[in-house]
Amino acid sequence: MSVALKPNEIGTKIIDGKQFARSIRRDIRQQVKKLNFIPGLAVVQVGDHPASTVYVSNKEKDCQYVHFHSEVHRMPAETPQAAVIAQIHALNSREDIHGIIAQMPVPDSIDGDAVINTIAPEKDADGLTLVNLGNLLINREKTVPCTPAGIIRLIESTGVAVEGSRAVCVGRSSLVGKPVGLMLLNRNATVTYCHTRTRELSSATQQADILIAASGKPQLITADMVKPGAVVIDVGITITENGFVGDVDFEGVKEVAGFITPVPGGVGPMTRAMLLENTLKLALAQKEK
Ligand code: NAP
Repeated sequence: MSVALKPNEIGTKIIDGKQFARSIRRDIRQQVKKLNFIPGLAVVQVGDHPASTVYVSNKEKDCQYVHFHSEVHRMPAETPQAAVIAQIHALNSREDIHGIIAQMPVPDSIDGDAVINTIAPEKDADGLTLVNLGNLLINREKTVPCTPAGIIRLIESTGVAVEGSRAVCVGRSSLVGKPVGLMLLNRNATVTYCHTRTRELSSATQQADILIAASGKPQLITADMVKPGAVVIDVGITITENGFVGDVDFEGVKEVAGFITPVPGGVGPMTRAMLLENTLKLALAQKEK
Protein backbone atom coordinates (compact mmCIF):
# COMPACT_ATOMS: atom_id res chain seq x y z
CA MET A 1 0.00 0.00 0.00
CA SER A 2 1.41 3.42 -0.88
CA VAL A 3 1.51 6.44 1.35
CA ALA A 4 1.56 10.09 0.44
CA LEU A 5 4.99 11.53 1.20
CA LYS A 6 4.96 15.29 0.94
CA PRO A 7 8.37 16.84 0.20
CA ASN A 8 9.00 20.07 2.07
CA GLU A 9 10.88 22.96 0.52
CA ILE A 10 14.32 21.43 1.13
CA GLY A 11 13.41 17.88 0.21
CA THR A 12 12.69 16.13 3.52
CA LYS A 13 9.65 13.94 3.04
CA ILE A 14 6.87 14.25 5.53
CA ILE A 15 5.14 10.92 6.05
CA ASP A 16 1.40 11.44 6.00
CA GLY A 17 0.17 8.90 8.55
CA LYS A 18 -3.34 10.28 8.43
CA GLN A 19 -3.74 9.58 4.75
CA PHE A 20 -2.02 6.18 5.03
CA ALA A 21 -4.39 5.20 7.85
CA ARG A 22 -7.38 6.40 5.82
CA SER A 23 -6.41 4.15 2.93
CA ILE A 24 -6.00 1.17 5.31
CA ARG A 25 -9.46 1.82 6.78
CA ARG A 26 -11.00 2.00 3.31
CA ASP A 27 -9.32 -1.23 2.35
CA ILE A 28 -10.60 -2.97 5.48
CA ARG A 29 -14.11 -1.69 4.83
CA GLN A 30 -14.01 -3.18 1.34
CA GLN A 31 -12.80 -6.50 2.71
CA VAL A 32 -15.53 -6.58 5.37
CA LYS A 33 -18.24 -5.99 2.75
CA LYS A 34 -17.22 -9.27 1.11
CA LEU A 35 -17.39 -11.34 4.31
CA ASN A 36 -20.36 -13.47 5.29
CA PHE A 37 -19.96 -12.52 8.94
CA ILE A 38 -19.32 -9.36 10.96
CA PRO A 39 -16.01 -9.02 12.81
CA GLY A 40 -16.61 -8.04 16.45
CA LEU A 41 -14.37 -6.03 18.79
CA ALA A 42 -15.05 -5.63 22.52
CA VAL A 43 -13.42 -3.01 24.71
CA VAL A 44 -13.33 -3.25 28.50
CA GLN A 45 -12.82 0.09 30.23
CA VAL A 46 -12.60 0.29 34.01
CA GLY A 47 -13.00 3.77 35.50
CA ASP A 48 -13.43 6.99 33.58
CA HIS A 49 -9.92 8.19 32.81
CA PRO A 50 -10.72 11.12 30.47
CA ALA A 51 -8.09 10.37 27.79
CA SER A 52 -9.15 6.69 27.77
CA THR A 53 -12.76 7.70 27.21
CA VAL A 54 -11.70 9.68 24.13
CA TYR A 55 -9.55 6.79 22.82
CA VAL A 56 -12.41 4.32 23.35
CA SER A 57 -14.92 6.51 21.54
CA ASN A 58 -12.46 6.88 18.62
CA LYS A 59 -12.18 3.09 18.47
CA GLU A 60 -15.97 2.82 18.32
CA LYS A 61 -16.09 5.35 15.46
CA ASP A 62 -13.39 3.46 13.55
CA CYS A 63 -15.31 0.19 13.99
CA GLN A 64 -18.48 1.82 12.75
CA TYR A 65 -16.71 3.08 9.63
CA VAL A 66 -15.39 -0.37 8.67
CA HIS A 67 -18.69 -2.06 9.61
CA PHE A 68 -17.33 -4.05 12.55
CA HIS A 69 -19.59 -4.82 15.48
CA SER A 70 -18.15 -3.05 18.53
CA GLU A 71 -19.17 -2.98 22.14
CA VAL A 72 -17.76 -1.17 25.13
CA HIS A 73 -18.06 -2.61 28.62
CA ARG A 74 -17.66 0.35 30.94
CA MET A 75 -17.14 -0.69 34.54
CA PRO A 76 -16.98 1.67 37.53
CA ALA A 77 -13.54 2.39 39.01
CA GLU A 78 -14.41 0.47 42.18
CA THR A 79 -15.22 -2.77 40.31
CA PRO A 80 -13.30 -5.66 41.91
CA GLN A 81 -10.57 -7.22 39.77
CA ALA A 82 -12.38 -10.58 39.82
CA ALA A 83 -15.41 -8.99 38.12
CA VAL A 84 -13.24 -7.46 35.39
CA ILE A 85 -11.57 -10.82 34.81
CA ALA A 86 -14.98 -12.54 34.72
CA GLN A 87 -16.10 -10.06 32.06
CA ILE A 88 -13.08 -10.92 29.93
CA HIS A 89 -13.70 -14.66 30.34
CA ALA A 90 -17.28 -14.10 29.16
CA LEU A 91 -16.02 -12.24 26.07
CA ASN A 92 -13.40 -14.95 25.40
CA SER A 93 -16.17 -17.50 25.09
CA ARG A 94 -18.38 -15.51 22.68
CA GLU A 95 -18.28 -16.51 19.02
CA ASP A 96 -19.36 -13.08 17.76
CA ILE A 97 -16.45 -11.33 19.49
CA HIS A 98 -13.16 -11.85 17.66
CA GLY A 99 -11.01 -9.16 19.28
CA ILE A 100 -10.86 -7.93 22.88
CA ILE A 101 -8.95 -5.04 24.38
CA ALA A 102 -8.57 -3.94 27.97
CA GLN A 103 -8.21 -0.17 27.94
CA MET A 104 -5.27 0.99 30.06
CA PRO A 105 -4.71 2.50 32.56
CA VAL A 106 -6.90 0.65 35.04
CA PRO A 107 -7.39 1.94 38.62
CA ASP A 108 -4.54 1.17 41.07
CA SER A 109 -6.66 -1.48 42.80
CA ILE A 110 -6.50 -3.62 39.65
CA ASP A 111 -3.52 -5.46 38.18
CA GLY A 112 -3.55 -4.39 34.53
CA ASP A 113 -1.19 -7.19 33.45
CA ALA A 114 -3.48 -9.80 35.02
CA VAL A 115 -6.45 -8.32 33.15
CA ILE A 116 -4.60 -8.21 29.80
CA ASN A 117 -3.36 -11.76 30.24
CA THR A 118 -6.88 -13.05 30.78
CA ILE A 119 -7.62 -12.18 27.15
CA ALA A 120 -7.37 -15.33 25.00
CA PRO A 121 -4.24 -14.84 22.82
CA GLU A 122 -6.29 -15.57 19.67
CA LYS A 123 -8.58 -12.62 20.60
CA ASP A 124 -5.78 -10.28 21.76
CA ALA A 125 -6.37 -7.35 19.38
CA ASP A 126 -3.71 -5.18 21.04
CA GLY A 127 -1.05 -7.92 20.89
CA LEU A 128 -0.13 -7.24 24.51
CA THR A 129 -0.63 -10.65 26.15
CA LEU A 130 2.52 -12.45 27.26
CA VAL A 131 1.87 -15.07 24.59
CA ASN A 132 1.86 -12.53 21.77
CA LEU A 133 4.78 -10.55 23.20
CA GLY A 134 6.64 -13.88 23.56
CA ASN A 135 5.93 -14.69 19.91
CA LEU A 136 7.42 -11.32 19.00
CA LEU A 137 10.49 -12.06 21.13
CA ILE A 138 11.19 -15.35 19.33
CA ASN A 139 10.57 -13.79 15.89
CA ARG A 140 7.28 -15.58 15.29
CA GLU A 141 5.17 -12.43 15.13
CA LYS A 142 1.44 -13.14 15.35
CA THR A 143 -0.61 -10.26 16.69
CA VAL A 144 1.79 -7.38 17.37
CA PRO A 145 1.04 -4.26 19.42
CA CYS A 146 -0.70 -1.57 17.36
CA THR A 147 1.69 1.37 17.74
CA PRO A 148 4.84 -0.63 16.84
CA ALA A 149 2.94 -2.26 13.94
CA GLY A 150 1.97 1.19 12.65
CA ILE A 151 5.55 2.47 13.02
CA ILE A 152 6.91 -0.41 10.95
CA ARG A 153 4.35 0.27 8.22
CA LEU A 154 5.34 3.94 8.16
CA ILE A 155 9.04 3.05 7.87
CA GLU A 156 8.32 0.53 5.11
CA SER A 157 6.36 3.19 3.23
CA THR A 158 9.53 5.25 2.82
CA GLY A 159 11.25 2.53 0.81
CA VAL A 160 14.30 2.81 3.11
CA ALA A 161 15.77 -0.64 3.81
CA VAL A 162 15.42 -1.78 7.41
CA GLU A 163 17.75 -4.74 6.96
CA GLY A 164 21.29 -3.75 7.83
CA SER A 165 20.24 -0.29 9.05
CA ARG A 166 21.12 1.15 12.43
CA ALA A 167 17.93 1.77 14.37
CA VAL A 168 17.76 3.66 17.64
CA CYS A 169 14.71 3.57 19.93
CA VAL A 170 14.53 6.35 22.49
CA GLY A 171 12.24 4.71 25.04
CA ARG A 172 11.96 1.11 26.24
CA SER A 173 8.36 0.74 27.40
CA SER A 174 6.58 -2.57 26.89
CA LEU A 175 3.91 -0.75 24.89
CA VAL A 176 6.11 1.04 22.35
CA GLY A 177 9.91 1.15 22.64
CA LYS A 178 10.70 -2.48 23.42
CA PRO A 179 8.33 -4.10 20.91
CA VAL A 180 9.20 -1.74 18.06
CA GLY A 181 12.89 -2.42 18.69
CA LEU A 182 12.20 -6.17 18.56
CA MET A 183 10.26 -5.76 15.31
CA LEU A 184 13.19 -3.88 13.80
CA LEU A 185 15.60 -6.54 15.07
CA ASN A 186 13.37 -9.25 13.55
CA ARG A 187 13.76 -7.36 10.25
CA ASN A 188 17.56 -7.43 10.63
CA ALA A 189 18.25 -3.88 11.78
CA THR A 190 20.99 -3.32 14.36
CA VAL A 191 19.03 -1.92 17.28
CA THR A 192 20.08 0.32 20.15
CA TYR A 193 17.71 1.18 23.00
CA CYS A 194 18.08 4.48 24.85
CA HIS A 195 16.38 5.44 28.12
CA THR A 196 16.76 7.76 31.07
CA ARG A 197 20.04 6.12 32.17
CA THR A 198 21.63 6.37 28.71
CA ARG A 199 24.81 8.43 28.74
CA GLU A 200 25.26 10.84 25.83
CA LEU A 201 21.91 10.26 24.17
CA SER A 202 22.90 12.37 21.18
CA SER A 203 25.94 10.23 20.34
CA ALA A 204 23.57 7.27 19.99
CA THR A 205 20.85 9.09 18.05
CA GLN A 206 23.39 10.60 15.63
CA GLN A 207 24.21 7.05 14.45
CA ALA A 208 20.60 6.21 13.61
CA ASP A 209 19.45 5.55 10.06
CA ILE A 210 16.05 4.99 11.67
CA LEU A 211 15.26 6.97 14.80
CA ILE A 212 12.18 6.16 16.90
CA ALA A 213 11.39 8.85 19.47
CA ALA A 214 9.11 7.36 22.14
CA SER A 215 10.09 9.09 25.36
CA GLY A 216 7.05 11.28 26.01
CA LYS A 217 9.44 14.21 26.50
CA PRO A 218 8.36 17.09 24.25
CA GLN A 219 10.96 18.11 21.67
CA LEU A 220 13.71 15.99 23.24
CA ILE A 221 15.16 15.25 19.79
CA THR A 222 16.71 18.28 18.16
CA ALA A 223 18.31 18.70 14.72
CA ASP A 224 21.87 18.30 16.02
CA MET A 225 20.95 14.81 17.33
CA VAL A 226 19.83 13.49 13.93
CA LYS A 227 21.91 11.90 11.17
CA PRO A 228 21.33 13.67 7.84
CA GLY A 229 18.86 11.68 5.74
CA ALA A 230 17.55 9.57 8.65
CA VAL A 231 13.98 8.29 8.94
CA VAL A 232 12.59 9.97 12.07
CA ILE A 233 9.43 8.55 13.62
CA ASP A 234 7.92 10.69 16.34
CA VAL A 235 5.72 8.60 18.62
CA GLY A 236 5.41 11.05 21.50
CA ILE A 237 2.23 12.92 22.22
CA THR A 238 2.14 15.50 24.98
CA ILE A 239 -0.85 17.77 25.38
CA THR A 240 0.23 21.36 25.98
CA GLU A 241 -1.42 24.78 25.87
CA ASN A 242 -0.36 24.93 22.23
CA GLY A 243 -1.92 21.59 21.32
CA PHE A 244 -0.25 18.22 20.76
CA VAL A 245 3.54 18.21 20.88
CA GLY A 246 5.78 15.35 19.80
CA ASP A 247 9.17 14.20 21.10
CA VAL A 248 10.88 15.73 18.07
CA ASP A 249 11.54 19.38 17.32
CA PHE A 250 9.76 19.03 13.99
CA GLU A 251 10.72 22.41 12.53
CA GLY A 252 14.43 21.91 13.18
CA VAL A 253 14.64 18.18 12.44
CA LYS A 254 12.79 18.40 9.14
CA GLU A 255 15.76 20.38 7.82
CA VAL A 256 18.05 17.38 8.44
CA ALA A 257 16.01 14.18 8.23
CA GLY A 258 15.25 12.27 5.03
CA PHE A 259 11.76 11.39 6.26
CA ILE A 260 9.80 12.56 9.28
CA THR A 261 6.37 11.94 10.79
CA PRO A 262 4.37 14.93 12.05
CA VAL A 263 2.51 15.14 15.38
CA PRO A 264 -0.42 15.00 15.08
CA GLY A 265 -1.02 13.08 11.87
CA GLY A 266 1.82 10.55 11.96
CA VAL A 267 1.90 7.54 14.28
CA GLY A 268 -1.41 8.20 16.08
CA PRO A 269 -3.75 7.50 13.12
CA MET A 270 -1.70 4.41 12.21
CA THR A 271 -2.12 3.00 15.74
CA ARG A 272 -5.89 3.22 15.28
CA ALA A 273 -5.74 1.63 11.84
CA MET A 274 -3.59 -1.25 13.12
CA LEU A 275 -6.22 -2.11 15.75
CA LEU A 276 -8.74 -2.60 12.94
CA GLU A 277 -6.25 -4.64 10.93
CA ASN A 278 -5.40 -6.85 13.94
CA THR A 279 -9.10 -7.40 14.63
CA LEU A 280 -9.84 -8.36 11.04
CA LYS A 281 -6.91 -10.81 10.99
CA LEU A 282 -8.07 -12.39 14.26
CA ALA A 283 -11.63 -12.67 12.97
CA LEU A 284 -10.53 -14.34 9.74
CA ALA A 285 -8.29 -16.76 11.66
CA GLN A 286 -11.15 -17.71 14.00
CA LYS A 287 -13.51 -18.29 11.08
CA GLU A 288 -10.96 -20.52 9.34
CA LYS A 289 -10.89 -22.92 12.31
P1 NAP B 1 6.53 5.49 28.93
O1 NAP B 1 6.01 4.19 29.39
O2 NAP B 1 6.50 6.67 29.84
O3 NAP B 1 8.06 5.25 28.48
C1 NAP B 1 8.89 6.31 28.13
C2 NAP B 1 10.27 5.78 27.83
O4 NAP B 1 11.10 6.86 27.45
C3 NAP B 1 10.95 5.11 29.04
O5 NAP B 1 11.63 3.94 28.61
C4 NAP B 1 11.93 6.19 29.52
O6 NAP B 1 13.11 5.66 30.09
C5 NAP B 1 12.28 6.90 28.22
N1 NAP B 1 12.66 8.28 28.45
C6 NAP B 1 11.95 9.24 29.11
N2 NAP B 1 12.65 10.40 29.14
C7 NAP B 1 13.80 10.16 28.47
C8 NAP B 1 14.94 10.95 28.18
N3 NAP B 1 15.03 12.24 28.58
N4 NAP B 1 15.94 10.38 27.50
C9 NAP B 1 15.89 9.10 27.07
N5 NAP B 1 14.83 8.29 27.33
C10 NAP B 1 13.82 8.82 28.03
O7 NAP B 1 5.81 5.96 27.61
P2 NAP B 1 5.20 5.11 26.37
O8 NAP B 1 3.94 4.47 26.76
O9 NAP B 1 6.28 4.28 25.75
O10 NAP B 1 4.86 6.32 25.39
C11 NAP B 1 5.87 7.19 24.91
C12 NAP B 1 5.22 8.38 24.22
O11 NAP B 1 4.49 7.91 23.10
C13 NAP B 1 4.20 9.14 25.08
O12 NAP B 1 4.25 10.50 24.72
C14 NAP B 1 2.86 8.54 24.67
O13 NAP B 1 1.80 9.45 24.85
C15 NAP B 1 3.13 8.30 23.20
N6 NAP B 1 2.32 7.24 22.62
C16 NAP B 1 1.77 7.50 21.42
C17 NAP B 1 1.01 6.54 20.78
C18 NAP B 1 0.42 6.84 19.44
O14 NAP B 1 -0.42 6.10 18.98
N7 NAP B 1 0.88 7.91 18.77
C19 NAP B 1 0.81 5.30 21.38
C20 NAP B 1 1.42 5.03 22.61
C21 NAP B 1 2.18 6.02 23.22
P3 NAP B 1 13.12 4.76 31.44
O15 NAP B 1 12.66 3.38 31.00
O16 NAP B 1 14.53 4.79 31.88
O17 NAP B 1 12.15 5.42 32.38
